[in-house]
Order: sequence, then C-alpha cells, then structure tokens
Amino acid sequence: MHVIVIGAGVTGTTTAWYLRAAGLDVTLLDAADLPAQGASAANGGMLHASHAEPWNAPGVGWDMLRYIGRDSSPLLLRPRALPGILPWGIEFLWNSRRTRFERNTLLNARLAEYSLRQLRTLQDQLRLDFGFVESGILKIFQDPESLRKNRDASRAMADVGVHFEEWDPARVSAEEPLLQPIEHRLCGALFFPGDAIGNAAAFTRALAEAAQQAGVRWRPNTRVTGWRLFGDRINGVETSAGPIAADAVVLASGFAAPQLLRRLGLRLPVAPVKGYSLTLDLPEDQLPRLPIIDDANKVVLTPLNGRLRLAGTAEFTGADLNLNASRTANVLAQCRRTLPRLPDRLDPQRMEPWTGLRPMSARGTPILGPTSVPGLFLNTGAGHLGWTLSCGSASLVADSLRGADTALPIEPFAL
Ligand SMILES: Cc1cc2nc3c(=O)[nH]c(=O)nc-3n(C[C@H](O)[C@H](O)[C@H](O)COP(=O)(O)OP(=O)(O)OC[C@H]3O[C@@H](n4cnc5c(N)ncnc54)[C@H](O)[C@@H]3O)c2cc1C
Repeated sequence: MHVIVIGAGVTGTTTAWYLRAAGLDVTLLDAADLPAQGASAANGGMLHASHAEPWNAPGVGWDMLRYIGRDSSPLLLRPRALPGILPWGIEFLWNSRRTRFERNTLLNARLAEYSLRQLRTLQDQLRLDFGFVESGILKIFQDPESLRKNRDASRAMADVGVHFEEWDPARVSAEEPLLQPIEHRLCGALFFPGDAIGNAAAFTRALAEAAQQAGVRWRPNTRVTGWRLFGDRINGVETSAGPIAADAVVLASGFAAPQLLRRLGLRLPVAPVKGYSLTLDLPEDQLPRLPIIDDANKVVLTPLNGRLRLAGTAEFTGADLNLNASRTANVLAQCRRTLPRLPDRLDPQRMEPWTGLRPMSARGTPILGPTSVPGLFLNTGAGHLGWTLSCGSASLVADSLRGADTALPIEPFAL
C-alpha cells in the first residue's frame, strides 16, 4: 500500500515515520526544499502536556474584543482579518463553553501524555540530536486568581497522568536564580516534572533523515495542487512536479490544509494563528536553568542547546507571514519583565527573529483520522500544541489508516 503524506512539518514527518514503521510504502512531500520550514521551524520548543487547555477558554470572546487592533497586547485581532475568519471564529467561540472546554482539555491532555511516551520510545530507539531535555517546565504566576484556575485545571488532568508540584516564590528563586529579581511580584508557581523541551525543527529534520534511511521517499519542492480520484476514492495527488498515484493520502499541511480540502467540497475548521519567537545567544550564566512559562506576560522562555528561545503572541491576522518588527520587540519586552537581568543591549547579529502560523482548529483539539472521502486522512489543527502532540497524533493516524486498533480512541478527533 502506497501512502502520500502532504507536508513535512513535525506533524507530517512523524506521520510518515509511523506509517513506514508499520511497513507501508510512504512518500513524504513538501512545497519547501527542507522539512520544518513552516510553523515547526522555530517554535517555543516546549513539550508540555501541562499546557493542554485549548486557547478558546470560557471568556475568550471578551478578551478578543478587548484586544482588537491593540498592537502591544499578547493577543491581537486584526480587524481586516475578521471577514476571513468569521465562520471559524463563531465555531471557536461556540467551543469556549465550559463543558466543551473541559472535555477538550482532557482530550488534549490524554493525547499529549501518550505523545510524550511515544516520543521517549522513539528517542530510545533513534537517539536523535535535537536538544531533548527532560527538564520539567515551570509556570509562574503574579495573579492569585489565575494561579487558582491553573491549579484546578492541572488537578483535573492528574487522572490522565499530568502531575505537578506547587512552589512558593522563595522556592522559585532557589530553583531558578534568574527569577530572584521578580520574586516579590510572584504569588506562586506550578512545576510540571513530566514536561520536556527540545528543538522541533532539529527533531523534524533528523527524523526525516531517519525515515529516508528506513525507506520513505522524500520529495522536496513538490507542491500539491489538486486531487486524483477514482470514483469517489482518492487515488493520488496532482503536484507542481506532475501527478503521483497513491492508495491513501494523509493531509498534514498545517494552516494551508483547508484550501486543499475545499476542492473536495469539505470544510476544515482550521485557521492560522500567528506567533513570534526570538532566539538569542547569551552567556551561560544568563540562561535559565528551567524552561519558564510566564502567565502574566504570556511568554515562554526555553533554554535550547545553549541558546535562549523566547516565544509568544497570538495574532488572528489571516495567512500573513510578515515579520513585524514591533511585534518581535513586544515579545522581547515581555520577556524582559520575566528576566530583568537580560542584557540591555543585545547584538542584533546574535538574535534570530521568526514568525510562524499555528494551524488551530476551532475546537481546540487536533483533527485526526479518516474523512468522508475514502482514502483521505487528516492530521492537522493542533494549534499551540503541534510539537507536543506530534508523535501521539501521528501514531493514531498511522494505526487508523492501516486498520489497526489505536492506542486511544481517535473518533473524538474526527472532522
Ligand atoms: C511562536 C510559536 C510558538 C510555538 N510553541 C510551541 C511549543 O512550545 N510547543 C508546541 O507543542 N507547539 C508550539 N507551537 C505550535 C507548533 O509549532 C505547530 O503546531 C506545529 O509546528 C505545526 O506543525 P505542522 O507540521 O502541522 O505544520 P507546519 O510545520 O506548518 O508544516 C506544514 C508543511 O506543509 C507544507 N505545505 C503546505 N501546503 C502544501 C502543499 N499544497 N503542498 C505541499 N506542501 C505543503 C508547508 O510547506 C509546511 O512545511 C508554536 C507555534 C508558534 C508559531
């Protein structure tokens, strides 16, 4: 059986790997010349089952209205993007009802826990070089109400295997001395020992390499432009490099997936949510020991291979990949509030700004598995969790495609 996987981000590459590992004949293709050139290129690096809450939490509608057009806020809704995201936005808000939000949080948390177990197994087998550290992740809080909500949400996730310790501000400073200057502002922190970090792009490229050695055909610079059908069944794709026949296709093309599905008359509720990162070269004594999520400033700070990756912001602005200098400066300014000892002057030559588009489903959970078109499968929509969920989602999709039992029920993630 020959399977085409469209998209060599972290989602498509892991999918290709698990399909091949199950003995299928696999072609992985991408419009770009290298794997991980899209949203997987320079993300926050966090493998965080603890962060499983969808972004459409109850009350998100008010937050979005509050932030319309406010360039300096972590959440930004561009008025010009409104018409394009309206149907998706309505579904996004519909899913922010408490019962749905809680159900979707647990679905993500269970999948994330499974995914991290799959990643560890893969790592034991392949020993890939991507800066994987089982460091745990520290979430710090300045607002007691926000700490309480996070504590309650984390307790609810204990049943699916997400565990945490609560630290007071003095313990935070002792464990992470770079946070001492803001100790007086903190009300507490949650430490998640099961979380980890790693460079998603390095992982994706190393796994793509391993997959090729295992027999996956890699076709760079190959853009899928349409579908080939036999009756109502997919039997290949049209590409910029000509037609390619297949018995099944997995669509894992990130935020661009809805466009291709539309050609088959299917609506995929996935929209791009823009984020920024900045990777800094810093002396070792200025690198945090622990990866940090700062709840008040809405940024993540991850030590990755001797560098510091700062990431944040959620912009609803359509498929816009423009690197906006003021938004990058905003991420840096927020991170300075978390780590006041960051040098005042940073050499621009030693800073790498980046922007990417998270493929976010309106439900807040990824969209996985078969579709109403025989032979066509989906793996996209994981939003802020795409790196964390990659190995788990890919395993489920690969097992479902070959008709095997899946380790977790895949039906709740269906289109
Ligand atoms: C600032 C930021 C920080 C983040 N931090 C984290 C984090 O700390 N932890 C976490 O778990 N997640 C994080 N994420 C989310 C995560 O990075 C994404 O969810 C994940 O990278 C999505 O991977 P993907 O493979 O689905 O999409 P992509 O990586 O975008 O891959 C899609 C691929 O499909 C290809 N493609 C598109 N259309 C076609 C076509 N027609 N033909 C052929 N190829 C095509 C593209 O070229 C691309 O390579 C972050 C995201 C951002 C933006």
